Amino acid sequence: MTDTDTTATTPTNLIQGRTGAWEIVMGLEIHAQVASKAKLFSGAAVGFGAGPNEQVSLVDAGFPGMLPTLNGHCVEQAVRTGLGLKAQINKRSQFDRKNYFYPDLPQGYQISQLYFPIVGEGEVEVEAEDGTFFTVGVERLHLEQDAGKLIHDLSPTESYVDLNRAGTALMEIVSKPHMRSPEEAVAYVKKIRTILVYLGTCDGDMEKGNLRADVNVSVCRVGGYEQFRATGDFSHLGTRCEIKNVNSFRFIAQAINHEARRQIEILEDGGKVDQETRLYDPTAGETRSMRSKEEANDYRYFPDPDLLPLELEQAWIDNIRASLPELPDEKRKRLMADYGLSQYDAVVLISEQAKADYFEAAAKGRDAKLVSNWVTNELSARLAADNLDFSQSPLPAAHVAELVALLEEGVISSKIAKEVFDHVWAGEGSPRQVVEARGLVQVNDTGAIEKAVDEIIAANPDKAAAVAEKPQAIGWFVGQVMKATGGKANPASVNDILKAKLGL
Ligand code: ADP
Ligand code: MG
Repeated sequence: MTDTDTTATTPTNLIQGRTGAWEIVMGLEIHAQVASKAKLFSGAAVGFGAGPNEQVSLVDAGFPGMLPTLNGHCVEQAVRTGLGLKAQINKRSQFDRKNYFYPDLPQGYQISQLYFPIVGEGEVEVEAEDGTFFTVGVERLHLEQDAGKLIHDLSPTESYVDLNRAGTALMEIVSKPHMRSPEEAVAYVKKIRTILVYLGTCDGDMEKGNLRADVNVSVCRVGGYEQFRATGDFSHLGTRCEIKNVNSFRFIAQAINHEARRQIEILEDGGKVDQETRLYDPTAGETRSMRSKEEANDYRYFPDPDLLPLELEQAWIDNIRASLPELPDEKRKRLMADYGLSQYDAVVLISEQAKADYFEAAAKGRDAKLVSNWVTNELSARLAADNLDFSQSPLPAAHVAELVALLEEGVISSKIAKEVFDHVWAGEGSPRQVVEARGLVQVNDTGAIEKAVDEIIAANPDKAAAVAEKPQAIGWFVGQVMKATGGKANPASVNDILKAKLGL
């Protein structure tokens, strides 16, 4: 079971209309490209950056008489993902043809799984911005082929077709309508992305289109969602619109906001929302109709006669289960238990596997909270500025460990530590080497600090007198002493000595 029960929570994002408040409800269909060297039904390579039509087999090009051969690795990836989503693995599934014509689909149909998907119901625990958890039900996960790409902007008179992507394996992860604010929808996609990246089943690179979402949005009067959860009856929810192919976290939130407001306008004007597919236009900041349900395609789904139903053996599934890595939720709990970290710190660390690994490599035997701070603040900011992730960090974890050790030993103050960090980042050597080479050792000699304190008090008798009335004015003195000692005085000693000398 999960930490919290979402069925009884209060609506997280009410929208005030002219006629009262509305709630938003969302369900997402996430398309995740399976991490695989070859396509779902052909041996053609999958890779970003190849020249046009360099990764196309006769199967992908839809040549007559070509037969699909199922890629076992892609099946394994789908099962691994299902297990990571704590979902039902269906030992028997089936591939269906979804028939439609489009120039990027030479086969004339997409092979998908409509009736019997490989993965059934599951559950994802997501952390909200305020640190509480909510649960999103997963309806299903199925395998399907991606289409090719049409390129319209290379020539003023012609369109080009690049089939490199045609036949690439996708996992479509369909959620239940369990999200109730744009923030929840974004947090859910982030969580799914993190889980897939941990599992190694999808690169999760949204810029390359490896992960994209169709967002279903509806609005209803307050209380509708709770009734839906209590009864399972969808009629308590409003009519949904589906916004296709949103490929960034920012656009997901924006699209939902625009779409919800559009639907509320219609309802408040006495109209009704048409169930339709829409596109989000980020430049115009609006969603536009693509096709309505009435004109929806009739895909004439039927089981693909070229492919046998897929039967999985329990032992094979169990093997995959045994090989699963530690997943984000488990890692979060373990970091909290083993290192005494707060939930917040643990959540920030586990958002990327490499970040959590880096932390653990640096934290052994050190003050974990301090290590976590350096990893998630200073280092994260530097890496982000250089567009690097933690696995590419030019600064080894041992250097962060050494920096924290110097702090723990009282050799440097936290102020000096920032300076040391800059020099280490610039490649001047390890923290200890920098401290020695640059003479950045903290002044712990109380005699030297006392001398500085005496001089400053003597030079500022009026301020010294005022401190008795306003004890917080001691901060000014601390600043002066630090300045006089080149930032090297031990701040704790400075405070102690100042308090004694100023009679506080
Ligand atoms: P379709 O095949 O027509 O896209 P699905 O049953 O696959 O229909 O549902 C698509 C998505 O729509 C799912 O993620 C589901 O949670 C979501 N959904 C269904 N009803 C609603 C609703 N009233 N409001 C918001 N989302 C909904
Ligand atoms: Mg759908």
